[in-house]
Amino acid sequence: MTECDVGPFPDANGFSEAVTLDEADPLSGFRERYHVADPDLIYLDGNSLGRLPRAVLPRLQALVVDEWGNGLIRSWNERWWNLQVAIGDRLAPLIGASPGEVLISDSTSVNLYKLAMAALGITESRRRIVTDDANFPTDLYVLRGVAEAMGGSLDVVATKGSGSPMADLEAVLDESSALLSLSSTEFKSGYTHDIGEMTALAHRVGTPVLWDLSHSAGVMPVELDASGADMAVGCTYKYLNGGPGAPAFLYVRQDLQESLASPIPGWWGHAEPFAFDLDYRPADGIRKFHTGTMPILSLVAMEAGISDVTEAGIDRIRAKSVSLTKFFIRQWEEHLAPLGFSLASPLDPERRGSHVSLSHSEAWPIDRALIEIGMVIPDFRAPDNLRFGLAPLYNTHLEVHTAVQRIRSIVTTGAHARFAGEKLTVT
Ligand SMILES: *Cc1c(COP(=O)(O)O)cnc(C)c1O
Repeated sequence: MTECDVGPFPDANGFSEAVTLDEADPLSGFRERYHVADPDLIYLDGNSLGRLPRAVLPRLQALVVDEWGNGLIRSWNERWWNLQVAIGDRLAPLIGASPGEVLISDSTSVNLYKLAMAALGITESRRRIVTDDANFPTDLYVLRGVAEAMGGSLDVVATKGSGSPMADLEAVLDESSALLSLSSTEFKSGYTHDIGEMTALAHRVGTPVLWDLSHSAGVMPVELDASGADMAVGCTYKYLNGGPGAPAFLYVRQDLQESLASPIPGWWGHAEPFAFDLDYRPADGIRKFHTGTMPILSLVAMEAGISDVTEAGIDRIRAKSVSLTKFFIRQWEEHLAPLGFSLASPLDPERRGSHVSLSHSEAWPIDRALIEIGMVIPDFRAPDNLRFGLAPLYNTHLEVHTAVQRIRSIVTTGAHARFAGEKLTVT
């Protein structure tokens, strides 16, 4: 029992609806594959750090003892050397890519740098990068850095609320745009682009597109090849449950790979790393975007998450994600809107990713109170946003229901007031 437990829930609150939806859920069996230390703790932050797949523990034990401990350097040849390409190939169908188009490497920030630099390397006189202010801060910083390094500029289009920035982006795209780079699903509002339409719009003026799939990969179908997308990057530690700091992925469409050059020509991207040539010669295909030695412990830890998403099926995952966010929004309307929470995510499920954002003038103390006494973990994004990430592999409709009741209980009793002064580094 927690301080704000509301006890048994009357049907009028949507409790029986939640139970019915969960009973009909074809993915309900996946939850037990995840480490859930305390079933009373409602984790709604899988869009920031996914839960731990239980299969990771024995796999890491074997890796550390057998492959590192016993195998030592022999394990590079026997197990490790090709893993980042092999795992990239397994991830590829989840984002609509083909084998040989996806590489696991570095972080999302570094991959974004590599591909944006590579894109500007072949655009000749075009020097203007276009993005919008709903993009993730690291993307804005990296893109500005690339623009400055290449003697160009960054255009940051202002977005309005959780609506579509498409018309505003169209207005600034022209023959001087070297690159359009956007988050496919925006980290604050959860607005999700139609990748095909947006890519076509940019291609009309000859501008390539670099998508950041961090908040889409593993939770909704993404059709990179079919939409004609040029390049993409993304995290594996969010809905792909790869673990804290798990290496990221990058995608380069097959027919672009030849012409693009990596701005970090490390030895792992060399055609023959073990020739120890003094001159760099890029590897064929996607491998040229390697930099240096992969973090094998983290790389191996991400396999279980990708397997689960593949087995569950991205369409079934998306269907449950939509069901969870719809249910959350219905519950918000009934129980939280009257308490000053407003919806900061699109109402149209087609245009919504897998998190729902609510704004509230006291969002920060409410977030702290939820975590400290409410046994609900959302996250807080300044200045007034509470994000609720709904991860279809382990979250349930009943958790949504309970979370909403706990939020209601905290706000109506004023239990959050005493958390107003707190400061934390990671929110
Ligand atoms: C989470 C996230 C990142 C994080 O980048 P790292 O380099 O892994 O820290 C980048 N972009 C977007 C859109 C994100 O959501």
